[in-house]
Amino acid sequence: MISYKIDREGNKIDLHYIEKLINQHKSTWLNKAAERTAKYKIAGKVTDNSHIWSEIKEVFMKIQGNKCAFCEGELEGKTSGKGVHDVEHFRPKNRITKWQSSPEFNALGIAITEPTVSKGYHLLTYNLLNYSIACGPCNQAIKKDRFPIKGNYNTLMENPSIESDAEIPLLLYPIGQHDVNCEDLISFNGAVPTVVIPDGLPFERAITTIEFFRLGRADIRGKLFKERCMKIITIDGILDENDDPSDYDNILENIIADYSDHASCGRSYVKLLKTNKSKASEVLSEAKRFIRTYIPDEQLN
Ligand SMILES: [Zn+2]
Repeated sequence: MISYKIDREGNKIDLHYIEKLINQHKSTWLNKAAERTAKYKIAGKVTDNSHIWSEIKEVFMKIQGNKCAFCEGELEGKTSGKGVHDVEHFRPKNRITKWQSSPEFNALGIAITEPTVSKGYHLLTYNLLNYSIACGPCNQAIKKDRFPIKGNYNTLMENPSIESDAEIPLLLYPIGQHDVNCEDLISFNGAVPTVVIPDGLPFERAITTIEFFRLGRADIRGKLFKERCMKIITIDGILDENDDPSDYDNILENIIADYSDHASCGRSYVKLLKTNKSKASEVLSEAKRFIRTYIPDEQLN
C-alpha cells in the first residue's frame, strides 16, 4: 500500500488540487455535491438513493495510477473500469457495521471501538477526502460498511482532514496529505506485507490494515500474491549483472513508480537487492516457487 501525495507531474495532491481536477472533468459536480450535503445536514441523514460520485470516478483512477487504493492491484482501464469499480467511501455514509476480526488478531489486544451508532458519516457522502477507488475484493468483499477505529465514532464529521484524538481510524487512508505515508508503516518481505514500526499506534494501524484487507493472506488472496511474486521476478529479470545498484532506481523507474502496480512490494525488493544480495536471492527463489505452484481456486479474487 502506498500513499498518493504527489502526482506524476509533481503536483501536490490535496483537496484544492482534487477539486481542480474535478472541475476540469465535470464543472457542475462540486456545486451539486455541496447542495446535496446541505440537504443531508438539515435532514440528519442521506436523503436520496441516486448518487453522483461515479461521475468523478476517473479523477480518482488517475490520481491512484489506476490501482486499488489498498492492495495496489492494477484496475481495469478507463473505459472498461468505469463499469467495474466504484468509488469507495473510506468512512461509510449510511451505516457502520462491525468488523469480525480473527482470534489471532484479537490476541494482539488492540482496543477496537464497537460500532453502536446506527448512522454513518452522512456529511462525508460527497467529501473528496473520503473517496478512493478500490478493487472488487478490497471494496465489495471486504470493506463494505466496516470502519474500525479507536476512540468514539464522530458520525457528524464534516472534514476528515482535521485530525482528532477522539476518533482514530485504524485503517490507513492513502490519498492526500492528511494521513501518514503508508510505506512508513507497511513494508514488504518478499511478497508478504510487514509492519515497519513494532509498537504504538503506528503498529496498530499497520497491522489492522494488513489484517482487515487480508493483504498477507496468500491462502485467500492468491492472485495478489501471484502479482507481487511476478513483480519480484520481473525486477530481477530486468536487471543485468553488470548494473550498478546505485542505478537500480533509474533503470526500474517505470516498474516501481507510484503509478505502477505493487510499487511498494517492488521498492522493498529493490532495497533488499541493494543491501542484502543473499536474502534477495532467497526472496526471488520463494517468488518463483510460488508462481510454479500457484493454482487459481475459489478465492476472493
Ligand atoms: Zn484491492
